[in-house]
Amino acid sequence: MRYLILSDIHANWEALNAVLDHAKGSYDEILNCGDIVGYGPDPNLVVDWCRTQTSKIVRGNHDKACATLEHLEWFNPVAAQSARWTHANLTPQNLEYLVALPTGPIIVEELELSHGSPEDEDEYLVYPDEIGAAAAHLGHRVAFFGHTHVQGCYIIHRGMAKRLMMDTVDLEPDCTYMINPGSVGQPRDRNPRAAYALYDSSRRFVEMRRVEYAIPATQAKIIQAGLPEVLAQRLTLGR
Ligand code: ZN
Repeated sequence: MRYLILSDIHANWEALNAVLDHAKGSYDEILNCGDIVGYGPDPNLVVDWCRTQTSKIVRGNHDKACATLEHLEWFNPVAAQSARWTHANLTPQNLEYLVALPTGPIIVEELELSHGSPEDEDEYLVYPDEIGAAAAHLGHRVAFFGHTHVQGCYIIHRGMAKRLMMDTVDLEPDCTYMINPGSVGQPRDRNPRAAYALYDSSRRFVEMRRVEYAIPATQAKIIQAGLPEVLAQRLTLGR
């Protein structure tokens, strides 16, 4: 099966569409590591799309916060403001969908999908030692995760993780891999292009990709919606 792996779309409709155009013809099913809403100006367009097009999805911390408005005291003021705006603007049907999203990890074929770490959906896996430690909790050799908005493919050997710097990786049968496809809608690795990954499970082949999208269009919508300006500015910077 050929999978398109998406994470952290964050209600960015222009970025999502650029990714779908760019990936056209190279996948059979779509998997999603969560945070489909929050920050961005198009929560309903993105949730409507996810409801019909995504095969398997786990919830992210922003999906949970926007759906329930619980524990916003743990969010910074900008994230909390965007969560309240998103909650107020979502249709009842889309709110219901967000509330019902499953907590990861979920298993698809032989791979695991989670938002943060396999142990905790809110945990950020940034450094190789954190990723190596998290891999101990996996039941499978291949796992996809999101949450940090930083794209990267890591190979784990004896509890140590090493980032592979190439864009395409042939997965070795006896090794464990943890792969962050990066963020579609709000990249934070100083590369403003939308990030995603492709995974072919029969060829055991991963490809990390980036694509440009109409950032000014998304920024204009953010301002128009009355969301914090910093959410527009950071898209240009990719951080
Ligand atoms: Zn996120």
